[in-house]
Amino acid sequence: MYTIRKFLKNMVSTNLSFEEKREQMVKTHLIARDIIDNEVLRAMAKVPRHEFLSADLWDRAYDDTPLPIEEMQTISQPYMVAYMIQALSIKKGDRILEVGTGSGYQTALLAEIHEKVYTAEIRKQLAHKALAKLEKLGYGDRVKLRIADGSVGYEGEAPFDGIIVAAATFDIPEQLIEQLAEKGKIVIPIGGTDVQTLVRATKVNGRLMEEELFKCMFVPLVRKGPENN
Ligand code: SAH
Repeated sequence: MYTIRKFLKNMVSTNLSFEEKREQMVKTHLIARDIIDNEVLRAMAKVPRHEFLSADLWDRAYDDTPLPIEEMQTISQPYMVAYMIQALSIKKGDRILEVGTGSGYQTALLAEIHEKVYTAEIRKQLAHKALAKLEKLGYGDRVKLRIADGSVGYEGEAPFDGIIVAAATFDIPEQLIEQLAEKGKIVIPIGGTDVQTLVRATKVNGRLMEEELFKCMFVPLVRKGPENN
């Protein structure tokens, strides 16, 4: 018989093993590769990725793989998220913009590191869910979320020292370039629907210096107004 005692015991051991699994993930998928930024590693070891997934995917939450969330979107692969945040070359007090909140996982990691994170999500339902989760986990005060097309940036809060775009596009949207501070960095997947190149661009004397990092696969960046559903 499945007693309350057993149920509670399972809950406790599940929680412990999530922490252990996160530690394992940090060691085997991040440190063993090229993630060296201590702030990024600290955040990755702390933020509960499973909380951003439906319960049927919890056993895979700390695998280094993207997973489905609602509305045919995906939560990014842990290594990719860590890499993108590290690629911004974090400094204390930086102003950060994220385009494509999705589940809110990357937003939580950014909020672990930065006091103010601005994020835009075009899908209303995802945005509401992400915000509720971020508030539940204690990141509510640090995150400003706008339900909007983030390809036009986050008007009124620019310039940003770092911009992370979590959806793919053929070129870097003009407004994002405008809203990037001098010496600021944008990390963005550039290319078609099958495969893209992760690009880091740094603003130097008002112009973008681009570096190609590696091949990647993201959902497409939608270019339109917010949904009304
Ligand atoms: N890093 C996120 C992954 C999000 S997937 C996570 O770990 O959960 C990309 C997200 O970008 C999707 O939720 C999609 O709805 C959103 N998106 C696509 N185009 C957008 C746009 N123009 N503005 C804002 N969000 C957009």
